[in-house]
Amino acid sequence: MRRYSVSIVSVGSLKYSVDMKYLENWRSRIVTIKHGASISHIPNAVGTSWEYTDGQLIDLIHEEEDADFTFALINAGLESNYYLRRLGDKVCVLSLYEMAEIVKSSNFTVEHYILRNIYEILAFYVEYGGAVPTHAYNLAHDDVRGCLFDMNPNKTDIVFSMNKPFLCDACRARMMAKQISAGFMSALDSELIRINRSLYFRIVEWIKAHPVCAILGTALSTIAINLASNFIFEVIK
Ligand SMILES: [Zn+2]
Repeated sequence: MRRYSVSIVSVGSLKYSVDMKYLENWRSRIVTIKHGASISHIPNAVGTSWEYTDGQLIDLIHEEEDADFTFALINAGLESNYYLRRLGDKVCVLSLYEMAEIVKSSNFTVEHYILRNIYEILAFYVEYGGAVPTHAYNLAHDDVRGCLFDMNPNKTDIVFSMNKPFLCDACRARMMAKQISAGFMSALDSELIRINRSLYFRIVEWIKAHPVCAILGTALSTIAINLASNFIFEVIK
């Protein structure tokens, strides 16, 4: 099965540290990620609300030649207050502006936010035969379903498609109507499941949802440890 290559280009100061090694080591049957170029100093935004317009970013960010698509990261407002903008068939930009705080406050990582959006762009890219379509925004749905193609006009809604994002029935049917390599969809499904909170926060959430079970579990394990230690003491004395 073909693995698509993604080159990450950092644009300006990202303010937050992004673990590029984690992204580059992400195990995947359908995508390889590498940290490509960096643009260290960027001009002031030309947008009336200090946002970077598509035209300005198209001039600034160029397609990486050795990758299927170029995924730029910036920490600044984008056109129309979007967090993800298409800049060409093979180039897009993802903003950490406001989004990093939103995902971190729900115990997700910036790296998983980046991965979630790489998979969304990858799905578009594969669905449209090697190009992110100009009407990609129209393919996303306003209804928040936890789907990879949730539009999230309310930026805080991103968290609903950060914990094991999936393809809703409508989006899956749309993709399945296209010529897509055998195995791509199943690989996509299995890899999206791995985008979730860390084990620590999953345990904390489970304890919050099942406090009685957690207390009983603690009590029983304490008794079991006591019995085991008494048994060992009896054997070795
Ligand atoms: Zn959907």
